[in-house]
Amino acid sequence: MATIIEPTIFELSSPGRRGVTMPASDVPETALPPKELLRSELPLPELAEVDVVRHYVKLSKFNYSVDDGFYPLGSCTMKYNPKINEDTCRLPGFLFTHPLQPIETVQGNLALMYELQEWLKEISGFAGVTLQPAAGAHGEFTGVLMMAAYHKSRGDTKRTKMLIPDAAHGTNPASVGMLGMSVVTIPSDERGNVDLKALEAACDDTVVGMMLTNPNTLGMFDENIEKVIELVHKCGGLMYGDGANLNALLGIVRPGDLGFDVMHFNLHKTFSVPHGGGGPGSGPVGVSQTLVDFLPAPLVGIIEEGDDDDETAPLYGFVTPKNSIGRMKAFHGHFGGGLVRAYTYIAMHGPDGLKDIAQYAVLNANYLQARLRGTYHIPYDRICMHEFVAEGRFEGSDVRALDISKRLMDYGFHPPTNYFPLIVPEALMIEPTETENKDALDRFADALIKIAEEARTQPDLLHNAPSTTKFGRMDEVKAARELVLCCWLPEDYSDQ
Ligand SMILES: *Cc1c(COP(=O)(O)O)cnc(C)c1O
Repeated sequence: MATIIEPTIFELSSPGRRGVTMPASDVPETALPPKELLRSELPLPELAEVDVVRHYVKLSKFNYSVDDGFYPLGSCTMKYNPKINEDTCRLPGFLFTHPLQPIETVQGNLALMYELQEWLKEISGFAGVTLQPAAGAHGEFTGVLMMAAYHKSRGDTKRTKMLIPDAAHGTNPASVGMLGMSVVTIPSDERGNVDLKALEAACDDTVVGMMLTNPNTLGMFDENIEKVIELVHKCGGLMYGDGANLNALLGIVRPGDLGFDVMHFNLHKTFSVPHGGGGPGSGPVGVSQTLVDFLPAPLVGIIEEGDDDDETAPLYGFVTPKNSIGRMKAFHGHFGGGLVRAYTYIAMHGPDGLKDIAQYAVLNANYLQARLRGTYHIPYDRICMHEFVAEGRFEGSDVRALDISKRLMDYGFHPPTNYFPLIVPEALMIEPTETENKDALDRFADALIKIAEEARTQPDLLHNAPSTTKFGRMDEVKAARELVLCCWLPEDYSDQ
């Protein structure tokens, strides 16, 4: 069990130290609120600026990040985030605007949002896009809400079931559950595709639709995708695409062309918005013609056409779709943190660059898969897309995926995703992304091959890993059951 040896900011505090200089008050003094509403004491840490900076910089150095090294976290698309995104999202015109400003004063921002909607439509083959949702899961909720509204608008009230493959991300059933629908799990076949027989058996007139990730979390492009969509449509259901893995398809396949009715984008995965640590995410949703009238409101639209002859620009503003499900988020989505960065990334790459991204992401994953084949068992062993899943276990050994991942940290790598998807025992889900060069991929493959050797010869090295990191292995059960979220609060404050 690791012990926390760094002092907290409260322990560093010393009465009277100051890190701020308050300006002289330029407003009249007023009476305080009634005594019952006041705390007798608010113990805040007292430190100089230099103490605070050093404390947090030190903590940040215990972290591993995508700016620090290879981050093969499957399903998360942890690609390097180009720094030009940081420049653009800090431009004063983007940074210092308020969502309640009159539209005439924020035409540049609205133009950017409008163009991003148009680009995402073109990239995905959809007829309409909302930029509101705050993350992928929020996009799912938005999309499923539109599916429900569509069925309801046709007086089709029997539909309560969503079909979801067993390889799906946990957010899919969670989003469906939040809307009171039930989930029917569809198994995968031995090639990692949706099992068509099981799908056919589940399709009836109580089905809202299907949520499918393609390529799925095994990194497999569904070889029967058109048949899958046809079956769902035939029973009156709609097809939801979980677009978290769009990185593999950019510039090559458009989900809208395949027949999907609705899909969320994860701008923080595919389009290089930084993520992890809770945000900010951004999960725009694209829809086919069937659902455009149900999109959340407001959308950014052109409310007065420009005139090329007069050189007048169009006037951008907000529009409300006819049967809109309403607002999904305060204001207009994560504008600076998500939308401006994603816009920059798309603009910098252009259509050919986006296609390169997908091709290199797929090439890198297949290269790693080829290097590890034979050392690690790969249960769905065919050409993969952006990621693949290996088994983190060896015959006759008690080494588990977790041990391998912890040992990888000793070699200076962030572990891959573990124990997901659930259909692969001891899953190691590896997604290198396009931003890694061959040297990085080789170093990672070498480390995994060396670890497989260690698993045979010195398994305790793995059981006890990591040994070179600031903190050792956490007690997994305790971390979940006895979660301490506020260990930094001084004792005397906790019961106030
Ligand atoms: C990341 C992911 C999600 C959820 O997206 P968030 O932005 O994390 O809410 C859904 N499905 C898949 C396949 C994912 O990888």
